[in-house]
Order: sequence, then C-alpha cells, then structure tokens
Amino acid sequence: MPIIPAICRRDRSQLRRRTTWNIINNRARGTTRYFDTIEPTLPSLRSEDLHIRWLGHATVLMRHRSVTLITDPLFRTRLFHLRRHGGTISRGTPDNSMPLVILISHLHHDHLDFISLRKLNPDAVVVVPVGAGTYLKRRIPQDVIELGVGEDIRFHHIRIKGVRAEHGGRRWPSVSAPAQGYIIEAGQTVYFAGDTGLFPAMESLHSCGIDIAFLPVCGHSPHLGKHHMNPIEAAQALEYIGARIAVPIHWGTYRPLGYSNHDFLRTPPYEFASHAALRASNTHVHILNPGDDLLIAGSLPSAA
Ligand SMILES: [Zn+2]
Ligand SMILES: [Zn+2]
Repeated sequence: MPIIPAICRRDRSQLRRRTTWNIINNRARGTTRYFDTIEPTLPSLRSEDLHIRWLGHATVLMRHRSVTLITDPLFRTRLFHLRRHGGTISRGTPDNSMPLVILISHLHHDHLDFISLRKLNPDAVVVVPVGAGTYLKRRIPQDVIELGVGEDIRFHHIRIKGVRAEHGGRRWPSVSAPAQGYIIEAGQTVYFAGDTGLFPAMESLHSCGIDIAFLPVCGHSPHLGKHHMNPIEAAQALEYIGARIAVPIHWGTYRPLGYSNHDFLRTPPYEFASHAALRASNTHVHILNPGDDLLIAGSLPSAA
C-alpha cells in the first residue's frame, strides 16, 4: 500500500515564522558574520508526533516529545567560497530549555561548523564519529560523545545508532575521522545519511524498517566530488533501504560564489523523485524547501 500523503500533515498555519536579519559584528576579529534568523513558533506536539524542519543542506531539526535533535548544524550565509542561496537561514534550536542532541556525520566544513555549534544550547550533547571527539571538545562548549558504526546510545527516550557511510573523513589541514550516518528512533525510525556515496551494503539498512530517510541528492555545486550521490544514485539507495518516506537534502542551499547556472539548485529533488517512482514505488518522496516543516502525526501505515 502506498504511503497516504494525508498522514504527513504540513500545516504552515500552525508554523508561523518570524524572520529577522541578525547581523553579528565581530569587531574583535575584524569580521562581520551574517545570520538570517528564524525564530519559529512551533506547534505543540502530541506524544506520538514527530516534527521535522529541514533547515537546509544537511541540517535537519527533529522534535519528539520533550527532546530536540539536530543534524550537522550549518547556519552560515557564507562559508569559504560558498554563498547561501535564497537568503534564508534558520537558527538551530528554537527552545534552549529543551534537551538537545546534535549529530555530526563527519568533519567536512559544510557538516561540522564551530560557529554554528557555538550558537546552540551549551547544555546539548554532541554525538560525533569515533576519532573526532578530542578535536571538538577543545572548540565547543557542549559535551561530546563518540559513537562508532554499529554502536548505539540512548538520549532520554530516543535511540541513536551509528551506521556506515562511504565518504571522506578528512578535514583540512590534518584532522581525520570516518564519516557515518545515523539511525534515530524517535517515534519513527529515521535514517540520516549525512554525506555518502552509493554502496551495495546499504541493503543491510532495509532490515531496520526505516520510516523516513533523509538522503543527499546533490551538493553545493553541480560537480559532485567522490563519494556523493546524484539523484539517480540516491534513488538506487532508496531502493536498497526501502524507506516509507524519503526527503531529499543536501541540495538548493549553497552555491559557489559567482556561479550563474542555478539549475542545480532547483532540479535535483525532482529528478530524484522521478527516479524513485520507478525504483522505490512504495516510498512517498516528500520534497521540502529549506525552512519547510513536515509533521508526522502518529504512526505510518505499513508498506506493501
Ligand atoms: Zn562531506
Ligand atoms: Zn556535504
């Protein structure tokens, strides 16, 4: 049975957003940083609801019961040669009184950004791949926990497991730790792939019973480097893992400075959806734009 889209309530009227430009002058360092801040009014949740907000690139905010979780927080309008596309950036946690867990998939600058991390709740817990802990502990105020592939931890009622990714783990100039994805059990079973290339052993995730998969389908330029997925490969990955809902991420958020062809900022999720319809017809592809919400109300129906 296909997923019934009505199950996924996306009620924007409940999710009023107040967007303000917040310019932070860092005079001491002689630089100016720009953050476009969304101060969201979030819906109240029932205990079985999972609220998701895609904040762009690989930054996904999830709320379930009393816990907020965020992946690879990146709230920058500028990052080296990259510029934010569309000018909308969301500041991570909407309510610092809530327990927060932050998942870092790997050390690349578009996934591990210390400036963004320092804007988040200092009482949060940051989960990182094995080998990255020492590097982070000296640079951020939060507690840091290393989690390896195949290992899992509990954070309140949420279970988090490290899973394999095929991606480089080196950060310029000399730090390195393996990249990984995460399985998050928070009412639904969620797969966050981080950055990864396609690899056949992804089929092992099929047995996890994934409800929602966040899959990278592009990047911050039309020229994908090694160990990334294009929309066709992401659709193949979806066939391997068999999720009920797929949300394409890692697209439409950043572009190289001066790059004038913006097709790659618009088309990848739709290419992904058309290929997914052929390869994984039982999966409902839900395309979000940065800042959009998805509310999973209750349990999802069984896949055919
Ligand atoms: Zn990467
Ligand atoms: Zn990336």
